[in-house]
Amino acid sequence: MKNIHGILYFLLFLSFGISSCDENNEDCTETSWYQDADGDSLGNPDITIIACEQPTGYVSNSNDQDDTNADTITIIDVDPSHFLTDENDFTISIVDCTLSDGTSAMCYEIVTSVGPSDHEMGPWCPDNITDGADKGGIWLEGGEVYDVDGAFIENMANFYDDDTWRMYDADGNIYTTDTEEDCANAANPNVGAEYENFCVECLPSYVAGLSRTYLIPSTPVLLDSPESFGIMGPPGQGSDAPTTRGIAFNGIHFDAPAPTDAILGAYTLAPFDDAGGHINLAVGYHYHAATGLSKEIIQNDNHAPMIGYAMDGHAIFARLDSNGNEPDDLDSCRGHYDEVRGYHYHVDKAGSNNFINCMGGAYAIQ
Ligand SMILES: [Zn+2]
Ligand SMILES: [Zn+2]
Repeated sequence: MKNIHGILYFLLFLSFGISSCDENNEDCTETSWYQDADGDSLGNPDITIIACEQPTGYVSNSNDQDDTNADTITIIDVDPSHFLTDENDFTISIVDCTLSDGTSAMCYEIVTSVGPSDHEMGPWCPDNITDGADKGGIWLEGGEVYDVDGAFIENMANFYDDDTWRMYDADGNIYTTDTEEDCANAANPNVGAEYENFCVECLPSYVAGLSRTYLIPSTPVLLDSPESFGIMGPPGQGSDAPTTRGIAFNGIHFDAPAPTDAILGAYTLAPFDDAGGHINLAVGYHYHAATGLSKEIIQNDNHAPMIGYAMDGHAIFARLDSNGNEPDDLDSCRGHYDEVRGYHYHVDKAGSNNFINCMGGAYAIQ
C-alpha cells in the first residue's frame, strides 16, 4: 500500500541527502554538550563543548543546578490512565520489551484502530475559492499556521511566487481528490502530473479499522546521549528507531515532519485539519502540529499542559506556559528537566511542522 510519506522519501533523499555526524563530513550536525562532573546524567549549563560526537564526561542536557553532587533524578512512570482508551478498539497492556540501550524492561503496548475521541477530524480542502476558514484546514509554512480557506487556494500562485499554481476551475471550484484511489495516487511520482494542482484529502472512511500498535517504556530511561529518530523509508533501512515522535492521549501519533517540500514540488497541497492532523492510507490519521485540540492535562504551577508521551516514555508538553512563555533551557531534543515532571519535552511551534527533535531516553525496540 502506498502512502504520501513512503513514496516521497525518495524525493527527500534526493533533495537533502542523508546527514551524518562525521567530523570530516560537511553535513555534520554540531550540537552543544554539557559537562556532567558528578555523573548523574544531568549537565552543567556553564561548561559546554560544541561537537558532532559526544565527548566523554559530557551529556546533551543542561539541567544540573549543582554539578558537584549527584542528584536523585525524578523519574515519572508513564500513567496509562491518561489515555482515552476503550474496551475494544483502543487498549493498553503491559508487556516485556528490550530498550535501545540493550536493557530488558516493561513496556506499554498501545493498540488503536479508532480516530480521536476528543475532537472531529477534518475538514481539509475547501470546495470553492469563496469558502471561509470553517470549510478547510490549515497549512504550515515558515513557522506560521495559515488557514486553508478559499482565499488561500486562490492566492497560491502569489504565495509561492509560481504561476503553475491554479487549483480551481473557472467557477472557482477547487480540484480535490475525492476517492480512495485518488488519495493513493496523488503522491505517486509516476502518475503525479495528472494530479498537479489537486488538493489532497484522504477521508476517515478509507482507513476505518486500520490498526496501529505502539510500544513505549513504562519507566523512561534517560540516556547520556540522545537517540535519533528513524528516517522515513522502507522498514529495516538504517536504524530500528521509530519515526513516530510520540502519542497523544487520544491514541493519535505525533508523526515525523510532513515532507511539505516534496508535496509542494508535485504541485499538490495536503492540508492538515485544525487539530494539525491528516490521513494517509498506511498509518491512518496522524498529527504534524500540536494546536491544542487534543486532551491536555493542566499543570498546577503555570507550566505548559501535558499533551502525550514521547516514544521514550518521557512526557510531552505544549510549547508555552500559562503566561505564554517558552522554556529557555531546552536541549537539542527540545527536552529539559524539572523535579516535578522529570525529563520531559516541549513541542515546537505548530507552524514549524515539528514536535521534538530526538529522544533523550531509550526507546523500545519493536
Ligand atoms: Zn502526514
Ligand atoms: Zn517543562
